[in-house]
Amino acid sequence: MDIYCPLCGEPWDMDELHEAEDMDFDTARKRFRRDGCAVFGSTHNRPADTDTAEKSALLFDLLGDDIDGIASLMEDLR
Ligand SMILES: [Zn+2]
Repeated sequence: MDIYCPLCGEPWDMDELHEAEDMDFDTARKRFRRDGCAVFGSTHNRPADTDTAEKSALLFDLLGDDIDGIASLMEDLR
């Protein structure tokens, strides 16, 4: 399942959070909420998909560490 950058809406497979360099899954998740694509050493999409980004940011705020919930709700919302 995919999660979406809260800043630009870029989709990422949530398994990527397990593979982020020099950090554990929890840290990667928190940093993804704040920094999005930058956690994976990538730059943000321009122009950003603001609609998707805003939904993702909202779900991260509402569901916090429930990354599975975030991913499945995003599937429903898109
Ligand atoms: Zn991004």
